[in-house]
Amino acid sequence: MKFVTSLGAGTALWLFAALNVASAQDLNVLCGVDEDWCLTMETAFEAKTGLEVAMERKSTGEILDRIRSERANPVIDVWWGGTGDTHLQGAAEGLMEPYQPAHSEDALPWAQNFFLMSGGKASGVYAGALGFAYNSDILEDRKVPTPSCWKDLTDPQYRGLVQMANPKSSGTAFTVLATLIQLLGEDEAFAYLSALARNIPSFTTSGAAPVKAAARGETGIGISFIHDAVTQKLAGAPLVIVAPCEGTGYEIGAVSIVSGARNLDNARRFVDFAMSPDGQATGAASGQNQIPSNARAALPPAAPDISLIRMVDYDFATFGSPEQRRRLLDRFDKEVLQGASAVETQ
Ligand code: PLP
Repeated sequence: MKFVTSLGAGTALWLFAALNVASAQDLNVLCGVDEDWCLTMETAFEAKTGLEVAMERKSTGEILDRIRSERANPVIDVWWGGTGDTHLQGAAEGLMEPYQPAHSEDALPWAQNFFLMSGGKASGVYAGALGFAYNSDILEDRKVPTPSCWKDLTDPQYRGLVQMANPKSSGTAFTVLATLIQLLGEDEAFAYLSALARNIPSFTTSGAAPVKAAARGETGIGISFIHDAVTQKLAGAPLVIVAPCEGTGYEIGAVSIVSGARNLDNARRFVDFAMSPDGQATGAASGQNQIPSNARAALPPAAPDISLIRMVDYDFATFGSPEQRRRLLDRFDKEVLQGASAVETQ
């Protein structure tokens, strides 16, 4: 089991060694979910198969960039976890290999649709709704009202008190961008995000970081997936979780095999496991609260009931298109990031 961590500048030798270690494994996986789940899944798959896996956690946009950069000579075999529209973008760019995994017949209808949408190149593993959570102690200390809608978050009373990730690196934040466009229309969504950015001191790289920061009391309000907030709340954080009153979007987290993967048979075994009830149970076992895609997998007891949340009819085809992604990220950079001269943090 090898976890390759972030690399500092000037470590060319170390980088060379790390890549060699990774390529010497039976399977190289980039993992887009919470680090605890990455580790639990890796351990369970290794125990089941006896294979040695090199797994690294990255945010979704970073994974897509890495797989693109290795197009001519792939080191990574499998991309497991992270928001599905980004997997669809990879599939549309010819970076993913078609594969129909075992257990497909047990996939819930939303996962079956997602598989068809990807051209058979990505499979839905879990689903979860977007929202935000606030730290009730912090908001009480600051004597500010409690928010219940997206529109509340632009209130100047929350200056410096809101965190969100950068959609270039984070699949969660790209889902925020796509959701707001579907709720408000594109121009209004960008106007909203520019107003929101005035309340955000820094944009994080990872999508779960804002809600983890709210749990630690380092910010007042974190915009993240609701299941990430549930995990923090169950660990004892004074968080109140909000499904915004206007409605919200959701993700289908996915798994795909990299086109030209060197360890193709092992990659297929990993995807089969990821789609199996045992593989999906590793989520709940590591404290995660997404909804599994396999109808035979047990629902984590604290998983949010998304049927109770007002949800947009999320347009995965549009927001999974590489052209749309490029255009929207450029616009976000120019109008929101540069406009707010915001800083990016981990
Ligand atoms: N963590 C969890 C629990 C998720 O469900 C997801 C989305 O699939 C992510 C992280 C995605 O991470 P990021 O927003 O950093 O790309």
